[in-house]
Amino acid sequence: MRFDDVRLTPNKGLSLHGKTKRMSDKRTELSKLGEFGLIERLSEGVQLQHKNSVKGIGDDAAVIDQGKDYGLLSTDMLVEGVHFDLSYAPLPHLGYKAIAVNASDIAAMNGLPKQVVIALGISNRFSLEAVEALYQGMKAAAKDFKIDLVGGDTTSSKSGLIISVSVYGQVEKERVAYRKGTKPHDILCVTGDLGAAFVGLQVLEREKQTFLANPNMQPKLDEYTYIVERQLKPTARLDIIHELKGLGVIPTAMIDVSDGLASECLHLSNHGHVGFAIYEEQLPIDKMTFDTAVEFQMDPVTAVMNGGEDYELLFTIDQKDHEKLEKHADIHFIGHAHEATKGNVLVTKKGNVVPITAQGWDHLNQEHKKD
Ligand code: ADP
Ligand code: MG
Repeated sequence: MRFDDVRLTPNKGLSLHGKTKRMSDKRTELSKLGEFGLIERLSEGVQLQHKNSVKGIGDDAAVIDQGKDYGLLSTDMLVEGVHFDLSYAPLPHLGYKAIAVNASDIAAMNGLPKQVVIALGISNRFSLEAVEALYQGMKAAAKDFKIDLVGGDTTSSKSGLIISVSVYGQVEKERVAYRKGTKPHDILCVTGDLGAAFVGLQVLEREKQTFLANPNMQPKLDEYTYIVERQLKPTARLDIIHELKGLGVIPTAMIDVSDGLASECLHLSNHGHVGFAIYEEQLPIDKMTFDTAVEFQMDPVTAVMNGGEDYELLFTIDQKDHEKLEKHADIHFIGHAHEATKGNVLVTKKGNVVPITAQGWDHLNQEHKKD
Protein backbone atom coordinates (compact mmCIF):
# COMPACT_ATOMS: atom_id res chain seq x y z
CA MET A 1 0.00 0.00 0.00
CA ARG A 2 1.32 3.47 -0.88
CA PHE A 3 1.48 5.99 1.94
CA ASP A 4 -0.89 8.40 0.19
CA ASP A 5 -3.49 5.64 -0.25
CA VAL A 6 -4.50 6.12 3.36
CA ARG A 7 -5.84 9.42 4.59
CA LEU A 8 -7.50 10.18 7.87
CA THR A 9 -10.48 12.27 6.83
CA PRO A 10 -11.67 15.21 8.96
CA ASN A 11 -14.62 13.21 10.25
CA LYS A 12 -12.16 10.61 11.56
CA GLY A 13 -13.04 8.34 8.63
CA LEU A 14 -10.41 6.37 6.78
CA SER A 15 -10.12 6.70 3.02
CA LEU A 16 -8.79 3.52 1.48
CA HIS A 17 -8.49 3.39 -2.31
CA GLY A 18 -11.21 6.00 -2.64
CA LYS A 19 -13.74 4.14 -0.48
CA THR A 20 -14.48 6.01 2.72
CA LYS A 21 -15.53 4.20 5.84
CA ARG A 22 -16.68 6.62 8.47
CA MET A 23 -15.77 5.66 12.01
CA SER A 24 -18.92 6.04 14.04
CA ASP A 25 -18.86 8.30 17.09
CA LYS A 26 -20.15 5.38 19.15
CA ARG A 27 -17.60 4.07 21.64
CA THR A 28 -17.70 0.44 22.72
CA GLU A 29 -15.33 -0.59 25.48
CA LEU A 30 -13.18 -3.56 24.42
CA SER A 31 -13.61 -5.01 27.89
CA LYS A 32 -17.32 -5.43 27.09
CA LEU A 33 -16.50 -7.71 24.16
CA GLY A 34 -13.74 -9.70 25.83
CA GLU A 35 -10.83 -11.19 23.89
CA PHE A 36 -12.87 -13.77 21.98
CA GLY A 37 -15.67 -11.30 21.17
CA LEU A 38 -13.12 -8.85 19.81
CA ILE A 39 -11.44 -11.47 17.61
CA GLU A 40 -14.84 -12.46 16.27
CA ARG A 41 -15.62 -8.84 15.35
CA LEU A 42 -12.22 -8.31 13.72
CA SER A 43 -12.54 -11.46 11.65
CA GLU A 44 -15.89 -10.41 10.18
CA GLY A 45 -15.57 -9.94 6.43
CA VAL A 46 -12.04 -11.36 6.21
CA GLN A 47 -11.94 -13.32 2.96
CA LEU A 48 -9.30 -15.86 2.06
CA GLN A 49 -8.06 -15.09 -1.45
CA HIS A 50 -5.59 -17.88 -1.99
CA LYS A 51 -6.57 -21.47 -2.66
CA ASN A 52 -3.77 -22.70 -0.42
CA SER A 53 -5.09 -20.83 2.66
CA VAL A 54 -6.81 -23.93 3.99
CA LYS A 55 -7.72 -22.57 7.43
CA GLY A 56 -7.72 -18.92 8.49
CA ILE A 57 -8.67 -17.29 11.79
CA GLY A 58 -10.18 -19.53 14.44
CA ASP A 59 -7.80 -22.36 15.24
CA ASP A 60 -4.50 -22.63 17.11
CA ALA A 61 -2.63 -21.99 13.88
CA ALA A 62 -3.49 -21.09 10.30
CA VAL A 63 -3.14 -23.97 7.84
CA ILE A 64 -1.46 -23.46 4.47
CA ASP A 65 -1.34 -26.06 1.73
CA GLN A 66 2.32 -26.58 0.79
CA GLY A 67 1.76 -29.42 -1.67
CA LYS A 68 3.04 -32.47 0.18
CA ASP A 69 2.41 -31.19 3.74
CA TYR A 70 0.41 -28.49 5.44
CA GLY A 71 2.31 -25.45 6.72
CA LEU A 72 1.15 -24.08 10.09
CA LEU A 73 1.47 -20.43 11.11
CA SER A 74 0.80 -18.89 14.48
CA THR A 75 1.84 -15.91 16.59
CA ASP A 76 1.71 -15.06 20.29
CA MET A 77 2.73 -11.96 22.15
CA LEU A 78 3.91 -11.54 25.73
CA VAL A 79 3.57 -8.07 27.25
CA GLU A 80 5.28 -6.94 30.45
CA GLY A 81 2.78 -6.20 33.20
CA VAL A 82 0.08 -8.26 31.45
CA HIS A 83 1.64 -11.67 30.82
CA PHE A 84 4.72 -11.47 33.00
CA ASP A 85 6.22 -9.58 35.90
CA LEU A 86 9.98 -9.20 35.79
CA SER A 87 10.18 -8.95 39.56
CA TYR A 88 9.83 -12.73 39.63
CA ALA A 89 10.16 -13.98 36.04
CA PRO A 90 13.87 -14.44 35.24
CA LEU A 91 14.65 -13.27 31.70
CA PRO A 92 16.00 -16.64 30.47
CA HIS A 93 12.80 -18.34 31.66
CA LEU A 94 10.73 -15.70 29.93
CA GLY A 95 12.59 -16.24 26.67
CA TYR A 96 12.05 -19.98 27.00
CA LYS A 97 8.34 -19.48 27.66
CA ALA A 98 7.87 -17.16 24.66
CA ILE A 99 9.10 -19.92 22.34
CA ALA A 100 7.31 -22.73 24.21
CA VAL A 101 3.85 -21.13 24.02
CA ASN A 102 4.23 -20.71 20.27
CA ALA A 103 5.48 -24.26 19.79
CA SER A 104 2.46 -25.39 21.80
CA ASP A 105 0.04 -23.85 19.28
CA ILE A 106 1.72 -25.85 16.51
CA ALA A 107 1.51 -29.02 18.64
CA ALA A 108 -2.21 -28.27 19.05
CA MET A 109 -2.57 -28.81 15.28
CA ASN A 110 -0.73 -32.15 15.65
CA GLY A 111 2.27 -30.59 13.94
CA LEU A 112 5.90 -29.84 14.70
CA PRO A 113 7.39 -26.32 14.80
CA LYS A 114 10.23 -25.63 12.38
CA GLN A 115 11.10 -21.91 12.33
CA VAL A 116 10.41 -18.81 14.46
CA VAL A 117 10.83 -15.08 13.98
CA ILE A 118 11.03 -12.87 17.06
CA ALA A 119 9.98 -9.23 17.38
CA LEU A 120 11.06 -7.26 20.44
CA GLY A 121 9.95 -3.91 21.84
CA ILE A 122 12.57 -2.90 24.43
CA SER A 123 12.57 0.12 26.72
CA ASN A 124 15.77 1.80 27.88
CA ARG A 125 15.44 0.04 31.25
CA PHE A 126 17.02 -2.98 29.57
CA SER A 127 20.74 -3.50 29.07
CA LEU A 128 22.51 -5.62 26.49
CA GLU A 129 23.09 -8.22 29.23
CA ALA A 130 19.36 -8.35 29.96
CA VAL A 131 18.41 -8.89 26.32
CA GLU A 132 21.14 -11.51 26.02
CA ALA A 133 19.68 -13.30 29.04
CA LEU A 134 16.28 -13.30 27.34
CA TYR A 135 17.84 -14.75 24.20
CA GLN A 136 19.72 -17.35 26.19
CA GLY A 137 16.30 -18.79 27.13
CA MET A 138 14.99 -18.46 23.59
CA LYS A 139 17.98 -20.30 22.18
CA ALA A 140 17.64 -23.06 24.77
CA ALA A 141 13.97 -23.53 23.85
CA ALA A 142 14.76 -23.43 20.13
CA LYS A 143 17.29 -26.22 20.73
CA ASP A 144 14.93 -28.29 22.93
CA PHE A 145 12.05 -28.01 20.45
CA LYS A 146 14.27 -28.30 17.32
CA ILE A 147 13.20 -24.91 15.97
CA ASP A 148 15.37 -22.61 13.87
CA LEU A 149 15.43 -18.95 14.89
CA VAL A 150 15.39 -17.30 11.48
CA GLY A 151 14.64 -13.61 11.97
CA GLY A 152 12.67 -10.91 13.71
CA ASP A 153 12.42 -7.20 14.35
CA THR A 154 13.79 -4.92 17.06
CA THR A 155 12.28 -1.65 18.15
CA SER A 156 12.24 0.62 21.18
CA SER A 157 9.30 0.69 23.52
CA LYS A 158 8.17 3.40 25.91
CA SER A 159 6.60 1.04 28.37
CA GLY A 160 8.51 -2.10 29.18
CA LEU A 161 9.20 -5.24 27.25
CA ILE A 162 7.08 -6.69 24.47
CA ILE A 163 7.95 -10.06 22.97
CA SER A 164 6.15 -11.20 19.85
CA VAL A 165 6.98 -14.59 18.40
CA SER A 166 5.66 -16.04 15.16
CA VAL A 167 6.17 -19.70 14.44
CA TYR A 168 5.99 -21.81 11.32
CA GLY A 169 5.41 -25.53 11.55
CA GLN A 170 4.42 -28.52 9.47
CA VAL A 171 2.09 -31.47 9.64
CA GLU A 172 1.36 -34.30 7.24
CA LYS A 173 -1.97 -33.46 5.61
CA GLU A 174 -3.80 -36.53 6.83
CA ARG A 175 -2.61 -35.96 10.41
CA VAL A 176 -3.75 -32.35 10.91
CA ALA A 177 -6.04 -31.85 13.94
CA TYR A 178 -8.40 -28.89 14.16
CA ARG A 179 -10.51 -27.61 17.06
CA LYS A 180 -13.47 -29.02 15.14
CA GLY A 181 -13.94 -32.71 14.45
CA THR A 182 -15.12 -34.30 17.70
CA LYS A 183 -18.08 -36.69 17.33
CA PRO A 184 -20.45 -37.81 20.08
CA HIS A 185 -18.94 -40.77 22.00
CA ASP A 186 -15.36 -39.67 21.31
CA ILE A 187 -13.11 -39.85 24.38
CA LEU A 188 -11.76 -36.60 25.83
CA CYS A 189 -8.05 -36.83 26.72
CA VAL A 190 -5.60 -34.47 28.35
CA THR A 191 -1.83 -34.73 28.77
CA GLY A 192 0.23 -34.12 31.91
CA ASP A 193 -1.41 -32.43 34.88
CA LEU A 194 -3.44 -29.25 35.14
CA GLY A 195 -3.71 -26.21 37.40
CA ALA A 196 -0.03 -26.18 38.44
CA ALA A 197 0.93 -23.02 36.52
CA PHE A 198 -1.96 -21.07 38.03
CA VAL A 199 -1.24 -22.16 41.60
CA GLY A 200 2.48 -21.49 40.96
CA LEU A 201 1.55 -17.94 40.00
CA GLN A 202 -0.30 -17.48 43.29
CA VAL A 203 2.86 -18.51 45.15
CA LEU A 204 4.98 -16.05 43.16
CA GLU A 205 2.49 -13.23 43.75
CA ARG A 206 2.41 -13.96 47.48
CA GLU A 207 6.19 -13.99 47.76
CA LYS A 208 6.37 -10.75 45.79
CA GLN A 209 3.98 -9.05 48.21
CA THR A 210 5.96 -10.37 51.18
CA PHE A 211 9.17 -9.08 49.64
CA LEU A 212 7.66 -5.66 48.92
CA ALA A 213 6.49 -5.42 52.51
CA ASN A 214 9.90 -6.46 53.83
CA PRO A 215 12.80 -6.47 51.34
CA ASN A 216 14.97 -8.39 53.83
CA MET A 217 12.69 -11.43 53.55
CA GLN A 218 13.96 -14.07 51.14
CA PRO A 219 11.24 -15.63 48.97
CA LYS A 220 10.23 -19.12 50.09
CA LEU A 221 10.06 -21.00 46.83
CA ASP A 222 12.02 -24.19 47.52
CA GLU A 223 9.03 -26.25 48.55
CA TYR A 224 7.07 -25.09 45.48
CA THR A 225 9.68 -25.80 42.78
CA TYR A 226 7.45 -27.87 40.48
CA ILE A 227 4.49 -25.51 40.32
CA VAL A 228 6.64 -22.38 40.13
CA GLU A 229 8.55 -23.93 37.24
CA ARG A 230 5.29 -24.81 35.51
CA GLN A 231 4.41 -21.11 35.62
CA LEU A 232 7.81 -19.69 34.71
CA LYS A 233 9.13 -22.24 32.24
CA PRO A 234 6.34 -24.23 30.58
CA THR A 235 7.09 -26.78 27.94
CA ALA A 236 5.36 -27.62 24.65
CA ARG A 237 4.15 -31.24 24.43
CA LEU A 238 5.91 -32.12 21.20
CA ASP A 239 6.78 -35.47 22.78
CA ILE A 240 3.08 -36.34 22.62
CA ILE A 241 2.90 -35.43 18.92
CA HIS A 242 5.68 -37.92 18.18
CA GLU A 243 4.06 -40.57 20.38
CA LEU A 244 0.59 -40.21 18.87
CA LYS A 245 2.16 -40.78 15.49
CA GLY A 246 4.09 -43.80 16.76
CA LEU A 247 0.92 -45.29 18.24
CA GLY A 248 -1.04 -44.67 15.03
CA VAL A 249 -3.54 -42.27 16.60
CA ILE A 250 -4.89 -39.11 14.96
CA PRO A 251 -6.95 -37.00 17.39
CA THR A 252 -10.40 -36.15 16.04
CA ALA A 253 -9.86 -32.62 17.42
CA MET A 254 -7.19 -30.89 19.49
CA ILE A 255 -6.36 -27.63 21.29
CA ASP A 256 -3.69 -26.59 23.77
CA VAL A 257 -4.63 -25.59 27.29
CA SER A 258 -3.59 -21.95 27.57
CA ASP A 259 -6.71 -20.51 29.24
CA GLY A 260 -7.84 -23.34 31.52
CA LEU A 261 -9.64 -26.60 30.86
CA ALA A 262 -13.15 -25.09 30.90
CA SER A 263 -12.41 -22.51 28.22
CA GLU A 264 -10.64 -25.02 25.95
CA CYS A 265 -13.37 -27.61 26.41
CA LEU A 266 -15.93 -25.01 25.30
CA HIS A 267 -13.84 -24.27 22.21
CA LEU A 268 -13.86 -27.96 21.22
CA SER A 269 -17.58 -28.01 21.96
CA ASN A 270 -18.40 -24.94 19.85
CA HIS A 271 -16.21 -25.96 16.94
CA GLY A 272 -17.33 -29.61 16.96
CA HIS A 273 -21.02 -28.96 17.68
CA VAL A 274 -20.90 -31.45 20.54
CA GLY A 275 -21.11 -31.27 24.32
CA PHE A 276 -18.77 -32.83 26.87
CA ALA A 277 -19.06 -34.61 30.18
CA ILE A 278 -15.87 -34.30 32.24
CA TYR A 279 -15.41 -36.38 35.40
CA GLU A 280 -13.82 -34.65 38.38
CA GLU A 281 -12.29 -37.88 39.65
CA GLN A 282 -10.39 -38.29 36.37
CA LEU A 283 -8.79 -34.83 36.41
CA PRO A 284 -4.99 -35.06 36.61
CA ILE A 285 -3.88 -32.83 39.49
CA ASP A 286 -0.36 -33.00 40.88
CA LYS A 287 -0.16 -33.40 44.66
CA MET A 288 1.78 -30.14 45.12
CA THR A 289 -0.82 -28.30 43.05
CA PHE A 290 -3.60 -29.80 45.14
CA ASP A 291 -1.97 -29.07 48.51
CA THR A 292 -0.93 -25.53 47.59
CA ALA A 293 -4.39 -24.69 46.22
CA VAL A 294 -5.83 -25.82 49.55
CA GLU A 295 -3.22 -23.68 51.34
CA PHE A 296 -4.55 -20.71 49.34
CA GLN A 297 -8.11 -21.70 50.27
CA MET A 298 -8.83 -22.37 46.62
CA ASP A 299 -10.69 -25.38 45.25
CA PRO A 300 -8.02 -27.33 43.28
CA VAL A 301 -10.69 -28.09 40.66
CA THR A 302 -11.11 -24.34 40.07
CA ALA A 303 -7.36 -24.08 39.36
CA VAL A 304 -7.71 -26.91 36.83
CA MET A 305 -10.88 -25.63 35.16
CA ASN A 306 -10.26 -21.89 35.22
CA GLY A 307 -6.54 -21.38 35.84
CA GLY A 308 -4.34 -21.04 32.80
CA GLU A 309 -1.01 -21.55 31.09
CA ASP A 310 -0.64 -25.29 31.54
CA TYR A 311 0.18 -25.71 27.83
CA GLU A 312 -0.90 -29.33 27.93
CA LEU A 313 -2.86 -30.82 25.02
CA LEU A 314 -6.60 -31.43 25.18
CA PHE A 315 -7.88 -33.72 22.45
CA THR A 316 -10.52 -36.23 21.50
CA ILE A 317 -10.06 -39.68 20.04
CA ASP A 318 -12.36 -42.18 18.42
CA GLN A 319 -13.32 -45.03 20.78
CA LYS A 320 -11.49 -47.48 18.52
CA ASP A 321 -8.20 -45.83 19.58
CA HIS A 322 -8.88 -46.22 23.30
CA GLU A 323 -6.65 -49.27 23.69
CA LYS A 324 -3.71 -47.65 21.93
CA LEU A 325 -3.52 -44.88 24.53
CA GLU A 326 -4.78 -46.77 27.57
CA LYS A 327 -1.32 -47.58 28.90
CA HIS A 328 0.23 -44.19 28.20
CA ALA A 329 1.34 -42.81 31.57
CA ASP A 330 0.90 -39.17 30.62
CA ILE A 331 -2.39 -39.22 28.70
CA HIS A 332 -5.53 -39.19 30.82
CA PHE A 333 -9.09 -39.96 29.77
CA ILE A 334 -11.15 -37.29 31.51
CA GLY A 335 -14.53 -37.53 29.84
CA HIS A 336 -16.44 -38.04 26.63
CA ALA A 337 -18.35 -36.13 23.98
CA HIS A 338 -22.12 -36.35 23.61
CA GLU A 339 -24.84 -34.59 21.62
CA ALA A 340 -24.60 -30.77 21.80
CA THR A 341 -28.06 -30.58 23.39
CA LYS A 342 -26.69 -32.25 26.52
CA GLY A 343 -24.35 -29.29 27.06
CA ASN A 344 -20.95 -29.21 28.77
CA VAL A 345 -20.92 -30.55 32.30
CA LEU A 346 -18.54 -31.48 35.07
CA VAL A 347 -19.61 -34.57 37.00
CA THR A 348 -18.29 -34.08 40.54
CA LYS A 349 -16.94 -36.84 42.79
CA LYS A 350 -20.25 -36.72 44.65
CA GLY A 351 -22.15 -37.24 41.41
CA ASN A 352 -23.43 -33.67 41.04
CA VAL A 353 -23.65 -32.41 37.48
CA VAL A 354 -22.36 -28.82 37.16
CA PRO A 355 -22.44 -26.78 33.93
CA ILE A 356 -18.99 -25.83 32.62
CA THR A 357 -18.53 -22.11 32.14
CA ALA A 358 -15.43 -20.34 30.88
CA GLN A 359 -13.64 -17.93 33.11
CA GLY A 360 -10.30 -18.17 31.40
CA TRP A 361 -7.61 -15.60 31.50
CA ASP A 362 -9.25 -12.86 29.57
CA HIS A 363 -6.74 -10.04 29.81
CA LEU A 364 -9.12 -7.47 28.38
CA ASN A 365 -11.66 -8.27 31.04
CA GLN A 366 -9.04 -8.51 33.77
CA GLU A 367 -7.98 -4.97 33.00
CA HIS A 368 -11.57 -3.84 33.15
CA LYS A 369 -12.06 -5.47 36.54
CA LYS A 370 -9.05 -3.62 37.95
CA ASP A 371 -10.64 -0.23 37.14
P1 ADP B 1 -4.42 -19.26 21.14
O1 ADP B 1 -4.90 -19.09 22.56
O2 ADP B 1 -4.42 -20.66 20.66
O3 ADP B 1 -3.11 -18.53 20.87
P2 ADP B 1 -6.17 -17.14 20.44
O4 ADP B 1 -7.31 -17.25 21.37
O5 ADP B 1 -5.09 -16.12 20.72
O6 ADP B 1 -5.51 -18.57 20.24
O7 ADP B 1 -6.71 -16.84 19.00
C1 ADP B 1 -7.80 -17.54 18.45
C2 ADP B 1 -7.81 -17.33 16.95
O8 ADP B 1 -7.97 -15.95 16.63
C3 ADP B 1 -6.52 -17.76 16.27
O9 ADP B 1 -6.87 -18.39 15.05
C4 ADP B 1 -5.79 -16.46 16.01
O10 ADP B 1 -4.97 -16.54 14.88
C5 ADP B 1 -6.93 -15.49 15.79
N1 ADP B 1 -6.60 -14.09 16.19
C6 ADP B 1 -6.26 -13.64 17.43
N2 ADP B 1 -6.06 -12.31 17.43
C7 ADP B 1 -6.27 -11.89 16.16
C8 ADP B 1 -6.22 -10.62 15.51
N3 ADP B 1 -5.90 -9.51 16.17
N4 ADP B 1 -6.52 -10.58 14.19
C9 ADP B 1 -6.83 -11.72 13.51
N5 ADP B 1 -6.90 -12.93 14.06
C10 ADP B 1 -6.62 -13.04 15.36
MG1 MG C 1 -3.70 -22.39 21.42
